[in-house]
Amino acid sequence: MELNLSNFSGQTAEEHEKHVKVLILGSGPAGFTAALYAARADLEPVVLTGMELGGQVSLTYAVDNYPGFPEGISGAELVERFQKQAERFGAKVEFDTATQVDLSKRPFKVQTYGTTYLADTLIIASGATARHLEIPGEKELTGRGVSYCATCDAYFFKEKNVIVVGGGDSALEESLFLARFVKSITIVHRRDEFRAGAILQDTVRTNPKIKFILNTVLTEIIGKEAVTAVNMKNVVTGEESQMPVDGVFVFVGHTPNTQLFEGQLEMESGGYLVTDKLMRTSVPGVFAAGEAADPHYRQVITSAGMGAAAALRANQFLEHASRNEKEEALYA
Ligand code: NAP
Repeated sequence: MELNLSNFSGQTAEEHEKHVKVLILGSGPAGFTAALYAARADLEPVVLTGMELGGQVSLTYAVDNYPGFPEGISGAELVERFQKQAERFGAKVEFDTATQVDLSKRPFKVQTYGTTYLADTLIIASGATARHLEIPGEKELTGRGVSYCATCDAYFFKEKNVIVVGGGDSALEESLFLARFVKSITIVHRRDEFRAGAILQDTVRTNPKIKFILNTVLTEIIGKEAVTAVNMKNVVTGEESQMPVDGVFVFVGHTPNTQLFEGQLEMESGGYLVTDKLMRTSVPGVFAAGEAADPHYRQVITSAGMGAAAALRANQFLEHASRNEKEEALYA
């Protein structure tokens, strides 16, 4: 009997396998900048966008600290420009997600929903995802009053009373954005000091719609069809209280999207990929850039810089490889 290698669309198994010089996982500032540099080096990079084109910054209302845009720019527009610029030099953007990787030998094997990529080098720019509070009611009421994105959901809370949880730049910045829509915001923070920058803190303090509850954590989010109240606990006095609210916005940090590489790449606690100064991971030929490897800076500009560095190193790696240098030399 003849073996039939066709699938439903009539393609053969080989047609689903693509060999690329540089495969980039992620389409945020790190991914698209890596794509720009790799494309300009004639490496014909392929970018797998992941589930969210543009990553976290695409959900940011205004980016005011990316140089070159003195009036600020929306996150979505910035990402669109990143993509256009990379494509102008030949980067290919695929709306697909890596589901499995095999980094045990080169070319590296990256499985997506429809394709198997064989990649000579891999640049991981898979970013990070908003962390949850992990308290009763949070999961059940997500999308029904619990949100992790003010830019996406503020509109639904016009003239409502909301809580923002967190004390970092995200919590305060998103509160300022929410203040344009809602009736009142109560920022609930677990300490009495904020992690956010001083200027941002001053701006938030002078906003008449925003007030604070400090040294306090949420212990439960209450509601049937939608959020109606929260239970809180003062971590200093132990006092418990309930507060009626219409919405809870959670900004308590991020977890890197690196689960796919567990057991294959060295990671720090918290799942951040370990890289050296040259963006090299523990596997030669695999580079990492942006928030997947950065627990410290997490800025658009630093992620973009890491993306550029990773692509420059990937180019050098391929040049050495094409000269048939020994593996030890490649990683020197
Ligand atoms: P972050 O700086 O890690 O702050 C997270 C906040 O959530 C902290 O205040 C933390 O409290 C609190 N938190 C963590 N887990 C909690 C829990 N289980 N329950 C209650 N509170 C909890 O995260 P981020 O604000 O998302 O910022 C991440 C990075 O992006 C930072 O480097 C920040 O500077 C940067 N960023 C920059 C900008 C900007 O420059 N425009 C904007 C947004 C973000 P503790 O303080 O007690 O730890």
